[in-house]
Amino acid sequence: MRFAILSKGDITSNDIRTKMKNYLCEFDLEYDEIEPDLVISVGGDGTLLHAFHSYVHRLNKTAFIGVHTGHLGFYADWMPKELEKLIIEIAKTPFQVVEYPLLEIVIQPKNGGEEERHIALNETSVKTPEGSVVLDLEIKGEHFETFRGDGLCISTPSGSTAYNKALGGAIIHPSLESIQITEMASINNRVFRTVGSPLILPKHHTCVLKPLNDRSFFITVDHFTKTYKDVKTIQCRVAREKVRFARFRPFPFWKRVHESFIAGEQRER
Ligand code: NAD
Repeated sequence: MRFAILSKGDITSNDIRTKMKNYLCEFDLEYDEIEPDLVISVGGDGTLLHAFHSYVHRLNKTAFIGVHTGHLGFYADWMPKELEKLIIEIAKTPFQVVEYPLLEIVIQPKNGGEEERHIALNETSVKTPEGSVVLDLEIKGEHFETFRGDGLCISTPSGSTAYNKALGGAIIHPSLESIQITEMASINNRVFRTVGSPLILPKHHTCVLKPLNDRSFFITVDHFTKTYKDVKTIQCRVAREKVRFARFRPFPFWKRVHESFIAGEQRER
């Protein structure tokens, strides 16, 4: 089996990276950053997001696992003190895989420019640094509402515990192939009206955001942010690709949610 290790870059994460690499090579596993079967991220959830985007072009061939060197991460759920156990488990391959749904974002510029396609593990958000975002929201080809406010967030089920949660969205189990739209401070009065509740769309229901004012705005895909102007549409739906996480012990989603948000401390499992 071929593996790669991506470190957050701090001393602790780099040390763990070196240790894991040496041990796994001693077990006759091959280190390969170009075509790895397994990518180990060492750091936090941000490092795992970075790892995901580094290998987004080969999601059907690469599985991910995260070791956290800071606070317990949602994706990075192995502790440094469990390293030996993890190394032995990896060396005993093949491993089990769980698959989670992803979000596809297609950005179509005005004036017939080339469209951009992105895949998000957590979410995309559309927001502006100045004034309000004004956009038409279409769902399944029908006008749904005209949104005016700070912005919209469209998240995956596994991303529902991230930015979406802070915006008052629901936590969705990743077995539900869906995306969730949450509002950021919508303006609601006698003139402007939005539904005001998070919306959960099933697979094959596409939503399209059509910016109406000519201000520039930000589109964020997980941890990347880019400024845009002159965008015709931003189309979001459940992606055909899935992310594959390597599982060496059971760690059900609701337990993960409990440990991240309720338990308040890191426990041995
Ligand atoms: P960061 O350093 O600002 O960390 C954001 C926090 O989100 C970290 O504590 C991380 O552990 C946590 N996180 C990331 N994915 C998660 C998930 N799926 N479930 C639960 N917690 C999760 O930024 P980063 O590390 O580069 O991560 C980018 C992510 O930060 C974005 O995808 C977005 O979801 C999140 N974010 C959250 C808020 C907020 O909660 N108000 C605001 C902006 C971005």
